Amino acid sequence: MSRVALVTGGTRGIGEAISKALKEAGYTVAATYAGNDEKAKAFTDATGIRTYKWNVADYGESKAGIEKVEADLGPIEIVVANAGITRDAPFHKMTPEQWKDVIDTNLTGVFNTIHPVWPGMRERKFGRVIVISSVNGQKGQFAQTNYAATKAGDIGIVRSLAQEGARNNITANAVCPGYIATEMVMAVPEKVRESIIAQIPAGRLGEPEEIARCVAFLASDDAGFINGSTISANGAQFFG
Ligand code: NDP
Repeated sequence: MSRVALVTGGTRGIGEAISKALKEAGYTVAATYAGNDEKAKAFTDATGIRTYKWNVADYGESKAGIEKVEADLGPIEIVVANAGITRDAPFHKMTPEQWKDVIDTNLTGVFNTIHPVWPGMRERKFGRVIVISSVNGQKGQFAQTNYAATKAGDIGIVRSLAQEGARNNITANAVCPGYIATEMVMAVPEKVRESIIAQIPAGRLGEPEEIARCVAFLASDDAGFINGSTISANGAQFFG
Protein backbone atom coordinates (compact mmCIF):
# COMPACT_ATOMS: atom_id res chain seq x y z
CA MET A 1 0.00 0.00 0.00
CA SER A 2 1.32 3.43 -0.85
CA ARG A 3 2.25 5.93 1.85
CA VAL A 4 -0.17 8.74 2.57
CA ALA A 5 1.09 12.31 2.16
CA LEU A 6 -0.69 15.42 3.42
CA VAL A 7 0.07 18.73 1.69
CA THR A 8 -1.44 21.86 3.24
CA GLY A 9 -2.21 24.56 0.70
CA GLY A 10 -1.79 21.75 -1.79
CA THR A 11 -4.23 22.93 -4.45
CA ARG A 12 -2.46 26.04 -5.73
CA GLY A 13 1.00 27.37 -6.48
CA ILE A 14 3.95 25.55 -4.95
CA GLY A 15 1.63 23.23 -3.01
CA GLU A 16 -0.12 22.14 -6.19
CA ALA A 17 3.22 21.20 -7.75
CA ILE A 18 4.17 19.32 -4.55
CA SER A 19 0.88 17.38 -4.52
CA LYS A 20 1.38 16.38 -8.15
CA ALA A 21 5.04 15.40 -7.66
CA LEU A 22 4.20 13.22 -4.65
CA LYS A 23 1.34 11.56 -6.53
CA GLU A 24 3.70 10.89 -9.42
CA ALA A 25 6.19 9.38 -6.95
CA GLY A 26 3.52 6.88 -5.89
CA TYR A 27 2.09 8.40 -2.71
CA THR A 28 -1.59 8.69 -1.89
CA VAL A 29 -1.98 12.44 -1.56
CA ALA A 30 -4.45 14.58 0.39
CA ALA A 31 -4.29 18.29 -0.51
CA THR A 32 -5.82 20.93 1.74
CA TYR A 33 -6.93 24.47 1.04
CA ALA A 34 -8.51 27.41 2.88
CA GLY A 35 -11.49 28.59 0.86
CA ASN A 36 -10.92 28.67 -2.90
CA ASP A 37 -13.45 25.93 -3.73
CA GLU A 38 -13.38 26.61 -7.46
CA LYS A 39 -9.63 26.10 -7.71
CA ALA A 40 -9.80 23.02 -5.46
CA LYS A 41 -12.47 21.44 -7.68
CA ALA A 42 -10.49 22.16 -10.86
CA PHE A 43 -7.40 20.67 -9.18
CA THR A 44 -9.23 17.45 -8.23
CA ASP A 45 -10.81 17.18 -11.68
CA ALA A 46 -7.39 17.49 -13.30
CA THR A 47 -5.38 15.29 -10.93
CA GLY A 48 -7.76 12.91 -9.14
CA ILE A 49 -6.20 14.06 -5.84
CA ARG A 50 -8.64 14.40 -2.94
CA THR A 51 -8.96 17.80 -1.33
CA TYR A 52 -9.97 18.85 2.18
CA LYS A 53 -10.90 22.31 3.39
CA TRP A 54 -9.81 23.66 6.75
CA ASN A 55 -8.06 26.67 8.23
CA VAL A 56 -4.54 25.69 9.31
CA ALA A 57 -4.59 28.55 11.83
CA ASP A 58 -7.26 26.71 13.85
CA TYR A 59 -6.04 23.73 15.90
CA GLY A 60 -9.47 22.12 16.28
CA GLU A 61 -10.18 22.31 12.54
CA SER A 62 -6.73 20.95 11.70
CA LYS A 63 -7.04 18.02 14.11
CA ALA A 64 -10.53 17.12 12.90
CA GLY A 65 -9.44 17.48 9.26
CA ILE A 66 -6.42 15.25 9.78
CA GLU A 67 -8.59 12.63 11.50
CA LYS A 68 -10.90 12.67 8.45
CA VAL A 69 -7.97 12.27 6.04
CA GLU A 70 -6.65 9.33 8.08
CA ALA A 71 -10.10 7.72 8.22
CA ASP A 72 -10.39 8.06 4.43
CA LEU A 73 -6.87 7.20 3.33
CA GLY A 74 -4.90 5.69 6.22
CA PRO A 75 -2.19 7.02 8.53
CA ILE A 76 -0.33 10.09 7.32
CA GLU A 77 3.35 9.26 6.95
CA ILE A 78 4.49 12.35 5.05
CA VAL A 79 3.36 15.81 6.06
CA VAL A 80 4.20 18.90 4.02
CA ALA A 81 3.37 22.14 5.86
CA ASN A 82 3.15 24.46 2.89
CA ALA A 83 0.12 26.72 3.41
CA GLY A 84 1.20 30.31 3.89
CA ILE A 85 0.22 33.93 3.40
CA THR A 86 1.79 37.37 3.24
CA ARG A 87 0.50 40.63 4.74
CA ASP A 88 3.36 42.95 3.87
CA ALA A 89 3.94 46.39 5.34
CA PRO A 90 6.95 48.32 6.59
CA PHE A 91 7.21 47.77 10.32
CA HIS A 92 6.09 51.30 11.25
CA LYS A 93 2.90 50.74 9.26
CA MET A 94 2.27 47.10 10.15
CA THR A 95 -0.95 46.57 12.06
CA PRO A 96 -1.33 44.07 14.90
CA GLU A 97 -3.85 42.26 12.64
CA GLN A 98 -1.29 41.89 9.85
CA TRP A 99 1.22 40.57 12.36
CA LYS A 100 -1.26 38.12 13.92
CA ASP A 101 -2.70 36.79 10.64
CA VAL A 102 0.72 35.80 9.38
CA ILE A 103 1.88 34.32 12.69
CA ASP A 104 -1.37 32.36 13.04
CA THR A 105 -1.25 30.92 9.51
CA ASN A 106 2.46 30.48 8.81
CA LEU A 107 3.82 29.57 12.24
CA THR A 108 0.99 28.33 14.46
CA GLY A 109 -0.43 26.70 11.31
CA VAL A 110 2.73 24.61 11.04
CA PHE A 111 2.34 23.48 14.67
CA ASN A 112 -1.34 22.72 14.03
CA THR A 113 -0.42 20.62 10.97
CA ILE A 114 2.40 18.58 12.48
CA HIS A 115 1.23 18.14 16.07
CA PRO A 116 -1.80 15.89 15.31
CA VAL A 117 0.25 13.52 13.09
CA TRP A 118 3.34 13.39 15.31
CA PRO A 119 2.14 10.73 17.83
CA GLY A 120 1.24 8.33 14.99
CA MET A 121 4.64 8.83 13.37
CA ARG A 122 6.33 8.06 16.69
CA GLU A 123 4.25 4.92 17.19
CA ARG A 124 4.87 3.62 13.67
CA LYS A 125 8.53 4.67 13.81
CA PHE A 126 8.43 6.40 10.47
CA GLY A 127 7.72 9.94 9.37
CA ARG A 128 8.73 12.67 6.98
CA VAL A 129 8.01 16.26 8.01
CA ILE A 130 8.76 18.92 5.41
CA VAL A 131 8.09 22.60 6.06
CA ILE A 132 8.12 25.20 3.30
CA SER A 133 10.07 28.13 4.72
CA SER A 134 11.49 30.94 2.56
CA VAL A 135 14.68 32.73 1.57
CA ASN A 136 13.18 35.69 3.41
CA GLY A 137 13.18 33.68 6.63
CA GLN A 138 16.91 33.17 6.13
CA LYS A 139 17.87 36.75 5.27
CA GLY A 140 14.94 38.97 6.36
CA GLN A 141 13.10 41.24 3.95
CA PHE A 142 11.94 44.85 3.89
CA ALA A 143 8.22 45.05 4.79
CA GLN A 144 8.11 41.42 5.92
CA THR A 145 8.95 41.39 9.63
CA ASN A 146 5.88 39.21 10.22
CA TYR A 147 6.55 36.82 7.34
CA ALA A 148 10.32 36.58 7.95
CA ALA A 149 9.70 35.84 11.64
CA THR A 150 7.45 32.91 10.74
CA LYS A 151 9.75 31.52 8.09
CA ALA A 152 12.80 31.75 10.40
CA GLY A 153 10.61 30.06 13.00
CA ASP A 154 9.95 27.19 10.60
CA ILE A 155 13.68 26.48 10.54
CA GLY A 156 13.75 26.40 14.34
CA ILE A 157 10.81 24.01 14.33
CA VAL A 158 12.44 21.46 12.01
CA ARG A 159 15.81 21.63 13.76
CA SER A 160 14.09 20.85 17.06
CA LEU A 161 11.78 18.18 15.66
CA ALA A 162 14.75 16.52 13.95
CA GLN A 163 16.36 16.00 17.35
CA GLU A 164 13.13 14.71 18.89
CA GLY A 165 12.16 12.44 15.98
CA ALA A 166 15.47 10.95 14.85
CA ARG A 167 15.44 7.93 17.16
CA ASN A 168 11.99 7.01 15.81
CA ASN A 169 13.09 7.29 12.18
CA ILE A 170 11.26 10.59 11.69
CA THR A 171 12.99 13.30 9.70
CA ALA A 172 12.06 16.98 9.69
CA ASN A 173 13.50 19.35 7.11
CA ALA A 174 12.79 22.75 5.63
CA VAL A 175 12.84 23.87 2.03
CA CYS A 176 13.58 27.56 1.53
CA PRO A 177 12.36 28.69 -1.87
CA GLY A 178 13.54 31.92 -3.42
CA TYR A 179 11.02 33.83 -5.49
CA ILE A 180 8.75 31.39 -7.33
CA ALA A 181 6.26 32.22 -10.08
CA THR A 182 2.98 31.70 -8.17
CA GLU A 183 -0.02 33.94 -7.52
CA MET A 184 1.67 35.10 -4.30
CA VAL A 185 4.56 36.61 -6.28
CA MET A 186 2.53 37.61 -9.34
CA ALA A 187 0.39 39.72 -6.95
CA VAL A 188 3.44 41.91 -6.28
CA PRO A 189 3.42 45.08 -8.48
CA GLU A 190 5.27 44.47 -11.75
CA LYS A 191 7.92 47.11 -11.04
CA VAL A 192 8.74 45.53 -7.67
CA ARG A 193 8.80 42.08 -9.29
CA GLU A 194 11.29 43.30 -11.90
CA SER A 195 13.54 44.68 -9.17
CA ILE A 196 13.33 41.33 -7.37
CA ILE A 197 14.31 39.41 -10.52
CA ALA A 198 17.25 41.79 -10.98
CA GLN A 199 18.59 40.55 -7.61
CA ILE A 200 18.46 36.87 -8.62
CA PRO A 201 21.71 35.75 -10.29
CA ALA A 202 19.75 33.12 -12.26
CA GLY A 203 17.87 36.05 -13.84
CA ARG A 204 14.45 34.46 -13.44
CA LEU A 205 11.82 33.37 -10.95
CA GLY A 206 11.84 29.73 -9.90
CA GLU A 207 9.18 27.29 -11.04
CA PRO A 208 6.92 25.55 -8.48
CA GLU A 209 8.10 22.19 -9.84
CA GLU A 210 11.67 23.05 -8.84
CA ILE A 211 10.53 23.21 -5.21
CA ALA A 212 8.31 20.15 -5.57
CA ARG A 213 11.26 18.03 -6.65
CA CYS A 214 13.17 19.00 -3.46
CA VAL A 215 10.16 17.95 -1.39
CA ALA A 216 9.75 14.64 -3.23
CA PHE A 217 13.41 13.86 -2.55
CA LEU A 218 13.11 14.69 1.17
CA ALA A 219 10.04 12.45 1.38
CA SER A 220 11.82 9.51 -0.22
CA ASP A 221 13.65 6.64 1.47
CA ASP A 222 16.88 7.97 -0.09
CA ALA A 223 16.71 11.01 2.23
CA GLY A 224 16.53 9.04 5.50
CA PHE A 225 19.76 10.48 6.96
CA ILE A 226 18.93 14.09 6.06
CA ASN A 227 17.39 15.48 9.21
CA GLY A 228 17.11 19.05 10.49
CA SER A 229 18.41 20.44 7.20
CA THR A 230 17.42 23.43 5.17
CA ILE A 231 17.47 23.10 1.39
CA SER A 232 17.82 26.48 -0.31
CA ALA A 233 16.41 26.70 -3.84
CA ASN A 234 16.75 30.33 -4.86
CA GLY A 235 18.76 30.74 -8.07
CA ALA A 236 21.87 31.82 -6.08
CA GLN A 237 20.09 34.80 -4.51
CA PHE A 238 21.28 33.96 -1.01
CA PHE A 239 23.54 31.37 0.62
CA GLY A 240 21.97 30.50 3.94
P1 NDP B 1 -0.29 30.58 -2.96
O1 NDP B 1 -0.83 31.85 -2.43
O2 NDP B 1 -0.16 30.39 -4.43
O3 NDP B 1 -1.14 29.34 -2.37
C1 NDP B 1 -1.38 29.28 -1.00
C2 NDP B 1 -2.07 27.99 -0.64
O4 NDP B 1 -2.21 27.94 0.79
C3 NDP B 1 -3.49 27.88 -1.20
O5 NDP B 1 -3.79 26.52 -1.45
C4 NDP B 1 -4.35 28.41 -0.04
O6 NDP B 1 -5.70 27.92 -0.07
C5 NDP B 1 -3.59 27.84 1.14
N1 NDP B 1 -3.83 28.58 2.38
C6 NDP B 1 -3.59 29.88 2.65
N2 NDP B 1 -3.96 30.20 3.89
C7 NDP B 1 -4.48 29.06 4.44
C8 NDP B 1 -5.08 28.74 5.68
N3 NDP B 1 -5.23 29.65 6.64
N4 NDP B 1 -5.51 27.47 5.87
C9 NDP B 1 -5.38 26.54 4.91
N5 NDP B 1 -4.82 26.77 3.72
C10 NDP B 1 -4.39 28.03 3.48
O7 NDP B 1 1.12 30.40 -2.23
P2 NDP B 1 2.53 29.88 -2.80
O8 NDP B 1 2.34 28.62 -3.53
O9 NDP B 1 3.22 31.00 -3.44
O10 NDP B 1 3.31 29.60 -1.43
C11 NDP B 1 3.29 28.33 -0.80
C12 NDP B 1 4.26 28.35 0.36
O11 NDP B 1 5.56 28.65 -0.12
C13 NDP B 1 3.93 29.41 1.41
O12 NDP B 1 4.21 28.94 2.70
C14 NDP B 1 4.87 30.54 1.05
O13 NDP B 1 5.15 31.36 2.16
C15 NDP B 1 6.08 29.76 0.59
N6 NDP B 1 6.98 30.50 -0.27
C16 NDP B 1 6.52 31.02 -1.46
C17 NDP B 1 7.40 31.71 -2.27
C18 NDP B 1 6.99 32.26 -3.59
O14 NDP B 1 7.82 32.94 -4.21
N7 NDP B 1 5.80 32.00 -4.10
C19 NDP B 1 8.80 31.93 -1.88
C20 NDP B 1 9.15 31.33 -0.63
C21 NDP B 1 8.27 30.65 0.13
P3 NDP B 1 -6.81 28.66 -1.01
O15 NDP B 1 -6.49 28.27 -2.41
O16 NDP B 1 -8.13 28.12 -0.54
O17 NDP B 1 -6.66 30.13 -0.77
